[in-house]
Amino acid sequence: MRTRAILSATAAGLLLVGAACALAQAPKPQDTEQWTPVPRVVTPGPAPVAPAAPPSDAIVLFDGKGLGEWVATKDKSPAAWTVADGILTVSKAAGNIETKRSFRNYQLHLEWRIPAGVTGAGQARGNSGVFLAATGPGDGGYELQILDSYQNETYVNGQAGSLYKQHPPLVNAARKPGEWQAYDVVWTAPTFAADGKLTAPARVTAFHNGILIQNDAVLAGETVYIGKPSYRPYTSAPIKLQAHGDPSPPLSFRSIWVRELAGP
Ligand code: MG
Repeated sequence: MRTRAILSATAAGLLLVGAACALAQAPKPQDTEQWTPVPRVVTPGPAPVAPAAPPSDAIVLFDGKGLGEWVATKDKSPAAWTVADGILTVSKAAGNIETKRSFRNYQLHLEWRIPAGVTGAGQARGNSGVFLAATGPGDGGYELQILDSYQNETYVNGQAGSLYKQHPPLVNAARKPGEWQAYDVVWTAPTFAADGKLTAPARVTAFHNGILIQNDAVLAGETVYIGKPSYRPYTSAPIKLQAHGDPSPPLSFRSIWVRELAGP
């Protein structure tokens, strides 16, 4: 009886030690945060007063009039973010939205504005994002981060213009909250062999307020919050906008258009 009790106590002890080791080794979000070097601040020219008009061959995704090109990511129902005065504002309750259309290689223009008087700090201050290929539900895909990065410290591979947790922006070109900002992005989709094996990684070139922030950056896979990125084969995917769960006031968008590009 006594031997059995000792044995089971020992087994319980071993289990506890095992669980503690597993916890200690479990990947954590902090493992993939990069804090240095901090991209230097470059002040862009003045914010444009009016939204940029799309070129003649662009597919207009938002021109201030409505959300006909967009659906809710969670159930593909009509996108329920707020459109007023030509501006689209995130509804955190409604969740992420994505384009009805799917794209492969493209040039994207997108304007966004952190609200004046935004509150919060770090990742909880004006967080959104544009998923350049929404290959999965929720936050699945490849995120170009949107955040208030005007005098707001966070890990550099999570600040505005980062390819989240993979590439910090080359410089910090953020404007103040309350001012319109623009991303211009060239997305080159990854390619896969018939058996699903990666043959060429995704590449991103991006400008923030006209300033180069990603120069043909090569991605290691889809964006992940915890752990190592990897690829899942796809051929074309929607573009998705993030309704981040942080409690800061929601940000807004205007003038979103895309030009499809030939390519592999
Ligand atoms: Mg984000």
